[in-house]
Amino acid sequence: MKKYNFNAGPSMLPREVIEATADACLDFEGSGLSLMEISHRAKNFQPVVDKAVELVKELLDLPAGYSVVFLAGGASTEFCRVPYNFLEKKAAYLNTGTWAKKAMKEAKLFGEVVEVASSAEDNYTYIPKNFTIPADADYLHITTNNTIFGTEMRYDLDSPVPLIADMSSDIFSRPVDVSKYNCIYAGAQKNVSMAGVNIVIVKDEALNKVSRQIPTMLDYMTHVKNGSMFNTPPVVPIYCAMKNLEWVKKNGGVEAMAQRAKERADMLYTEIERNKLFRGTAKAEDRSYMNICFVMNDEYKELEADFLQFATERGMVGIKGHRSVGGFRASCYNAQTIEGVQALIQSMKDFEAQH
Ligand SMILES: *Cc1c(COP(=O)(O)O)cnc(C)c1O
Repeated sequence: MKKYNFNAGPSMLPREVIEATADACLDFEGSGLSLMEISHRAKNFQPVVDKAVELVKELLDLPAGYSVVFLAGGASTEFCRVPYNFLEKKAAYLNTGTWAKKAMKEAKLFGEVVEVASSAEDNYTYIPKNFTIPADADYLHITTNNTIFGTEMRYDLDSPVPLIADMSSDIFSRPVDVSKYNCIYAGAQKNVSMAGVNIVIVKDEALNKVSRQIPTMLDYMTHVKNGSMFNTPPVVPIYCAMKNLEWVKKNGGVEAMAQRAKERADMLYTEIERNKLFRGTAKAEDRSYMNICFVMNDEYKELEADFLQFATERGMVGIKGHRSVGGFRASCYNAQTIEGVQALIQSMKDFEAQH
C-alpha cells in the first residue's frame, strides 16, 4: 500500500533527494568510497558545503554581511548558543509554545529575559499581537512556526530591536526578509534534510559583541571563520540538505514552496471546516501551513482512535497529534504532495460517511 508521510519531524523528503543521498553513501561521486568514509576535508567534499551555503544564500536572498554555517546539536543547542553569543543584558522572547519556552529557559542562564507576550493561557492556539518590545533588549526571539500547536508567523515582524528566529519547521517555505534578523536557525529534520545538522544564518557584525567568554564550540564566530569545518561536521545530513535545496531551487524556489504550501493547507483546512466530525485547533488567522492540527468535534470525541486506525489502514502515517494538543496533526512540509493531502481528505470524507 502507498504510504503518505505526515510525520512532524524527522519528516518527508523528496524521493530523489533520498535516492541521491543513498547513492552518495554507497559511492560518493564515483570515487569508489562512501560519503561516510571520506574526510570532511577531502577535495571532493568541500564543494558540497560550498554549494549548500550558496543555495541557502540564493534561496533566501541573503543580503551581504551574513554567514551561513552548518552545526550539530539540534535546534535545542541553538537555544543556548543564541543567548551565549547575543545576550549581553536583556533579551525579549515571544512565548508561542513548547519550543519558545525551551529557548527562554536557556536564555535565562545568561541574562534578563522579558516575555513580551504569551498565548499559554489558551494552549498556544494563536500568535500574540500588539505587544511591546523593550527598545533596550539585545534582540527579540520568535518561533516562526510552532510545530506542536500548528500556528505560524508567515511574516517578518517590525521590531525596534533585531530579530532572532527559530525557523526549524518553516525555513525555505516562504521568502524571508533576512535583513530584519541577527540570526536565523533551524534544525534540518523538519523541512531541509535528515536529522543531524542545523542551518544557522548570522549577521556578521552582530557577532563578538558580548563581553563574556564563549566556549569555542558554542561561539558562532568559530564556525563562521572556519566555514563549518572547525571540527568534523555531519557530512551526510549536509549532503542531503544540499540535494534538497537543489530540489527547492529546481521546483521554483521559496516563492513556489509558499504557493504550494498555501494550496495544500487551504485544501485541508477547508475539509476540516466542512467535515462534521472535525474542527481545527488554531485560530484561523494564525494557523500554520506546515503543521495542520485538528481534533474530533466534542460529540464525536470517542471516534478519535477509530479515525486514526481508519486513516492508518489507508496509508496515512504520522497523523497522531502531539500529546499537548491531542487529536491529529498533518505535517505538510515542502516535500508533501497534493496527492498525499487528497488521500487524507478522502479518508476524512469516507470516515464521515460511516458516521
Ligand atoms: C523540532 C523543533 C525543535 C527541536 O529541534 P531538535 O533538532 O530536536 O533539537 C526546535 N524548534 C522547533 C520549532 C522545532 O520544531
